[in-house]
Amino acid sequence: MADYDYDLFVIGAGSGGVRAARVSAAHGAKVAIAEDHQVGGTCVIRGCVPKKLLVYGAHFAEDLKDATRFGWQVPEDCAFDWPTLRDNVLAEVERLNGAYTNTLESHDVEIILERATVAGPHEVKLASGETKTAKYILVAVGARPHMPDIPGIEHAVSSNEMFHLDEMPKRALIAGGGYIANEFAGILHEFACEVTLVNRSDVILRQYDQSIRDRLLQLSMTKGIDFRFHCEIEKIEKNEDGSLHVTMPGHSDMDVDLVLFATGRVPNTENLGLDSANVELDDKGAITVDEYSKTSCDSIYAVGDVTNRVQLTPVAIREGQAFADTVFNDKPTTVDYDCIPSAVFSHPPMAGVGMTEGEARNTLGSIKVYTSDFRAMKNVLAERNERALYKMITDAETGKIVGLHMIGPDAPEILQAAAVAVKAGLTKADFDNVVALHPTMAEELVLLK
Ligand code: NDP
Repeated sequence: MADYDYDLFVIGAGSGGVRAARVSAAHGAKVAIAEDHQVGGTCVIRGCVPKKLLVYGAHFAEDLKDATRFGWQVPEDCAFDWPTLRDNVLAEVERLNGAYTNTLESHDVEIILERATVAGPHEVKLASGETKTAKYILVAVGARPHMPDIPGIEHAVSSNEMFHLDEMPKRALIAGGGYIANEFAGILHEFACEVTLVNRSDVILRQYDQSIRDRLLQLSMTKGIDFRFHCEIEKIEKNEDGSLHVTMPGHSDMDVDLVLFATGRVPNTENLGLDSANVELDDKGAITVDEYSKTSCDSIYAVGDVTNRVQLTPVAIREGQAFADTVFNDKPTTVDYDCIPSAVFSHPPMAGVGMTEGEARNTLGSIKVYTSDFRAMKNVLAERNERALYKMITDAETGKIVGLHMIGPDAPEILQAAAVAVKAGLTKADFDNVVALHPTMAEELVLLK
């Protein structure tokens, strides 16, 4: 240790980096962490957390409408004030940035608020010019939104800017058909913005079960979100009134107030000095690692989105924890990537764990599918014509549940609990053995036909 400034130098204070730094320090390592933006990373500062708060804020549009059916007198001119929500959300982000900073400091992790790059197997260069040495370096710099190289791209925004908009746009065009596109389509639509979602293929959220994503598409269209498939944006021009003119070959042009690109994220490996330590990248620019998150350089590890394994916060956290336990607690630990539940916070939200029906059919051949297509009790009284759909996929031979997928109110909350059973390898009969908890939406899970 005497040869190095630190046992561990972490580059990037996002979900994976913070967990690795804190736990390594708790295991007795001398740790520094460098961050050139805010402590907390994408999830806390410009991703999952502020997004979920906007989803809550947006949902009041429907709740306030439904409230009248439950006897509440909601004024006709019940108005929404975007700056109030934006500023409250940003204040919460600021609070979390402070909380993460405190956690690191209370574990004696030195926080260096500047950009750091790799300068060798044991060397890190800071933006200020200083060089630090460490026995191990952990790269946890995450990913950034992919912005295509098209004329006028400077007029478009990514999800990063969505939390800072001066005003709510009246018309928005969203490029992409994945998580971010569908989540922001729902948010903006609830805030009375006219939304058009354009996608290069004719499939949204392709990794989800087809029936579930078809239901989201149908509900989104019924609510008034417009979809254009096989459609790509060719150029964006600024009109005199400040609005944006968007050209899409094969489709009519549009004038909108905001263009959001949500077409995936690319690992932040450029200009990171990885060559200096012969750290290998894959064809997408992500750092290649082994099952212990070790790179092609023995003293350098990488976790989270920069490795492009599964781009989800809880996965990065597990990778950070496993790294710390492996390297600083003499307990080699790998991450189990099987059966990871995930959710899309659309309106309504959807969630899934395990194989889709298509995957299960291809993998197992013989499967049995159970579904429940129902209108939640609250939606019935509210006269909201919005049906939920739950789908359970089992191995026909054993009855073991291999996939569980749902769309409907609170689907992610319900699925998190049910995912424990799926991960544990329970069968449809095990679910049937449980008495329904009435009246809930979740009871449909033990009544599936
Ligand atoms: P996604 O990977 O979810 O979706 C990307 C979308 O953009 C797809 O519809 C894809 O189309 C399209 N696309 C990809 N490349 C291009 C391109 N070059 N030109 C045009 N269209 C393209 O990415 P997001 O940006 O929505 O989100 C990034 C990641 O962040 C997600 O993968 C997810 O891991 C994470 N995330 C998770 C959330 C959650 O857990 N709720 C919320 C938000 C983000 P096609 O399908 O045809 O390839």
